[in-house]
Amino acid sequence: MVTSSSPSAVEVPARIDGLVNLAYNLWWSWQPPAAALFRELDPALWDATDQNPVLILHRLPPERLESAASDPAFVRAYDAVVTSYGEMERADPSDTWIGRHEPALANKTVAYFSAEFGLHRALPIYSGGLGVLAGDHAKQASDLGLPLVGVSLLYRQGYLRQRLTHDGWQHDVTADIEPWAEPTTQVRGADGNPCFVEVAFDQPEAPLRLAIWCLRVGRVPIYLLDADVDGNPEWTRTVSSRLYGGDQEHRLRQEIVLGVGGVRALRAMGVEPAYWHANEGHAAFHLLERVRELAATGLGFEEAAERVRATTVFTSHTPVPAGHDVFPPYLIDRYFGHYWSQLGLGREGFLALGRHTESGDGFNLTALSMRLAGHRNGVSERHGEVTREMWSGLWPGIEPAMVPITSITNGVHLPTWISPRVQNLLDRHLAPDWRERQDDPATWEPVRTIPAGEFWEVHLAAKRDLLTDMRERTRRRWSEGGLDPAQVVAAGPFLEANVLTLGFARRFATYKRATLLFHDLDRLAGILNHPEWPVQIVFAGKAHPADDGGKRLIQEIYGRTRDPRLSGRIAFVEDYDMGVAGTMVGGVDVWLNMPRAPMEASGTSGMKAAANGVPNLSILDGWWREGWSPDNSNGWGIEPAPVADDHAQDAAEAHAFYDLLAEVAPLYYRRDADGIPVAWVTRAKEAICTVAPAFSAQRMLADYVHRLYRPAAGVDR
Ligand SMILES: *Cc1c(COP(=O)(O)O)cnc(C)c1O
Repeated sequence: MVTSSSPSAVEVPARIDGLVNLAYNLWWSWQPPAAALFRELDPALWDATDQNPVLILHRLPPERLESAASDPAFVRAYDAVVTSYGEMERADPSDTWIGRHEPALANKTVAYFSAEFGLHRALPIYSGGLGVLAGDHAKQASDLGLPLVGVSLLYRQGYLRQRLTHDGWQHDVTADIEPWAEPTTQVRGADGNPCFVEVAFDQPEAPLRLAIWCLRVGRVPIYLLDADVDGNPEWTRTVSSRLYGGDQEHRLRQEIVLGVGGVRALRAMGVEPAYWHANEGHAAFHLLERVRELAATGLGFEEAAERVRATTVFTSHTPVPAGHDVFPPYLIDRYFGHYWSQLGLGREGFLALGRHTESGDGFNLTALSMRLAGHRNGVSERHGEVTREMWSGLWPGIEPAMVPITSITNGVHLPTWISPRVQNLLDRHLAPDWRERQDDPATWEPVRTIPAGEFWEVHLAAKRDLLTDMRERTRRRWSEGGLDPAQVVAAGPFLEANVLTLGFARRFATYKRATLLFHDLDRLAGILNHPEWPVQIVFAGKAHPADDGGKRLIQEIYGRTRDPRLSGRIAFVEDYDMGVAGTMVGGVDVWLNMPRAPMEASGTSGMKAAANGVPNLSILDGWWREGWSPDNSNGWGIEPAPVADDHAQDAAEAHAFYDLLAEVAPLYYRRDADGIPVAWVTRAKEAICTVAPAFSAQRMLADYVHRLYRPAAGVDR
């Protein structure tokens, strides 16, 4: 099997025809010089296409490409990018990080299964932090030379786009994904025909056919399964269409496509993983399929399961019960009744694999994953403790502290999440190879000696970028018609670049308590409207389409944007995605998080902010318990209030926020003779120096490689 690498219907002059290859590999998205090439071709189209080079090449008039091909400056920049692309693609494994640090893994492929991948704003096959983490994992694997292949679904309707009605209710608008308009190419066999694999749902005699698309992320391929194939019954064609749309049965079918279909797709393409990684329980059925394969060679269930366990890593991402799939036995009977005998199991034995005391007689995919994956982790130290506690029932007689689930704290892909402006600043002051040594604290030391004025100027430019972006989004919506003036007020026209700006943006899951700061409106109004030290807050985020509780929180904030007492100092940015996230994390002055502890397994947006020099002010939960310096030198932490009652806890923690904000605001406004907040800048630099190395995806991948991938790959066996 081969991957089709000749994307259709794009004509580019020979002198610059490497642009096609660049456009079809998301590598460009974390290489500022490569992104600049596409932007320069047509800045307006760059914005209008959501920064999508494939669409840009499709839409540009041939004359524009001809003129670029004969522009010496463009061609020079192009040649430099093509050279570094070639170096990335052709690097000898011994020349990569993995070749130097863990050579035994340099030729062993890990298959990484995830129901979503957050790779780029123009490819909405992610809903939030879990997907973005998977995307960052893939990008970092490419950077380190770790042989990884991703497996996921091609959601042709993507994750919803958010529109808010005049009274703040979230409307879920589908985002149609056209494979030809994305950097996806269909996988074909040696005969040139599209490659298909089959999976059975409830009727084994009428299997479903799945197409496979390949998405290239640097050196890493991600294979996306697609049920929208001619010849499939009409109802099955929409199975992979929507990320987290539909009911439980729809979800079960998607997870069969991902798990069972994913293993079959890798086999069909001749990919031979040496070990496997399931990102969250959604990928659990891949474990069953691998047991089935081994059973087909004659092994008994126990022996087959033991082999699967030895070669599998499983990461659990949330203590929130709704984050764990549980299916009723009748659905399991319907979809797996023809399957379990192929594993050497009967109904009882099969159902027992997904049993968990908290789930009644339901089939719990996290329990299944815990049972069939031998290397397990949570995503922060605290989440590790909570996860051991939560699943200790699976290891009867073992103390929770001894339950075999470890933790690896999440990290973020710095070249994706540090803004081009700040990367430029770092390029001027750090060693030229800082990106390769980003997990070493020493790499970041020179940040401390950047002149405060230069540092502050870069931050202010990022802040103006955010305000400009907010204004331009609003202008676009206004000129499309249908926006009423009050909605324009909600979008933040009264925000000012010289006012201390707090940012809060993430999924509107209720445990994240987005509205906590509105607990006592009088106190909040006093802080926002302080005569000397005013404060403004920018919010963004989507609620899950089925989560009316989350939608009500959005509505509450939306209402507050227009509350005259708050003077237009609250804004809500519509349609949170990786694009909005990228502008917000570097463009505000302080990043907020107020989860109900210990529900925030890790959180990653605060890491992105800190790496841009934006200090966090957050509840000490998830990653921030590890990232915060107790002398407040890199941000501010609030201990969760030790009360059991939710309302009392909200009140205590809201007032702790107000108290702290009253201290933080004057610090921001303390300036030297040149108007530079020198002490503030010191704290912002400290945020970079402490958070960037420890919470980089490079540190995270190194932890996975040394602690879980090595044993799963059998290096020590
Ligand atoms: C980083 C990111 C998240 C994760 O944010 P948390 O802090 O973990 O809640 C969610 N959505 C998008 C678009 C992101 O970029």
